[in-house]
Amino acid sequence: MKRPHFHFHLPNRVIIGIILAHLMLAALVIYILLPSGWWPGRTKKVSRTDFLMTTVVESLVYTRDRRHAEDALSDAYQEAARLEKLLDRYRATSDVGKINEAAGLSPVDVSNATYEVIARALEIAALTDGAFDITIAPLVDLWGFGTGDTHIPDQDALQAALAKVDYRQVVPDREDMSVFLAQPGMKLDLGGIAKGYIVDKAAEALLAKGVTSAYFDAGGDIRVIGEKPDGSPWRIGIRHPRNRNKLIAHVDLKNQAIVTSGDYERYFTADGVRYHHILDPKTGMPTREIISATVIAPDALTADALSTGIFVLGLERGLALIESLPGVEAIIITADETVHESSGVGDQLELRI
Ligand code: AMP
Ligand code: MG
Repeated sequence: MKRPHFHFHLPNRVIIGIILAHLMLAALVIYILLPSGWWPGRTKKVSRTDFLMTTVVESLVYTRDRRHAEDALSDAYQEAARLEKLLDRYRATSDVGKINEAAGLSPVDVSNATYEVIARALEIAALTDGAFDITIAPLVDLWGFGTGDTHIPDQDALQAALAKVDYRQVVPDREDMSVFLAQPGMKLDLGGIAKGYIVDKAAEALLAKGVTSAYFDAGGDIRVIGEKPDGSPWRIGIRHPRNRNKLIAHVDLKNQAIVTSGDYERYFTADGVRYHHILDPKTGMPTREIISATVIAPDALTADALSTGIFVLGLERGLALIESLPGVEAIIITADETVHESSGVGDQLELRI
């Protein structure tokens, strides 16, 4: 028996239309599901650059969900901007501006963040035997670092400024959440520690949003979260102190912070001599033995304060201090351009010279 044949003959235009509609629907589903993390999409790199704390702040988050990463980065940068407003002594309305204004007069109520940085700074001052000292501001101002009008100060002015530098005359009161500078004319400068603290808080903001792989860099104060998606560590370069375009080494990090203090960051030269911005609180002069001090630590505040501190302490005392601190390592370059390292650095460090 012969069955009847039915032929549907759809016009080509209709067939193409149906295919296109399906493709568009599929694209829409992918567009909605992929970024939300429902779909095991490929890992993406989301980065952001901004200008904060008078420096370029760069960050990078590895994620499967671009929108989530952007949201976390917004939190991190907002937190950094909030803290900068509290800690910048050049703003009269900042906590530090107010503390300085009231030196010798009265204690000033401060935010938790300000209190925390100052308390940690005083601990590190004690640890470094005063080599790291946040009451350094009168000396920094005398030399003109910060204002841009740099010059060698005369001896009388230097002695007068030195008399205002002493971290033991900072009086924190945890009950009142206040800070008092005991002498009129005293001034705090958190330039050697605040960036590290801010980087830590920015990293905490990323962690709070569930970020597991990220890099946050405020002008060389760097903290990394986790490792890279392929399981490899973050590779951080250490700049050659006498050649800006060259790296002297690189360091591999996971879940750590790294900060370098260098005599090449801010300086002026007079009669062929370099005068830089890291001053010895005991002499009022820029120190000469070390030209670059890098510290690796679990957090950026510790790395920041200690890199400035050991820069002043010098090679022998600086390294001895680092060796006494668990989880903290250092790479120090002395004026003869020799690279020295603490005993725990190991194969985290790769020299390029
Ligand atoms: P850093 O680049 O972290 O080493 O910080 C250097 C900045 O810290 C300088 O620009 C000063 O504002 C401040 N500073 C300079 N000397 C000292 C010191 N001995 N202790 C603490 N802060 C210092
Ligand atoms: Mg520092």
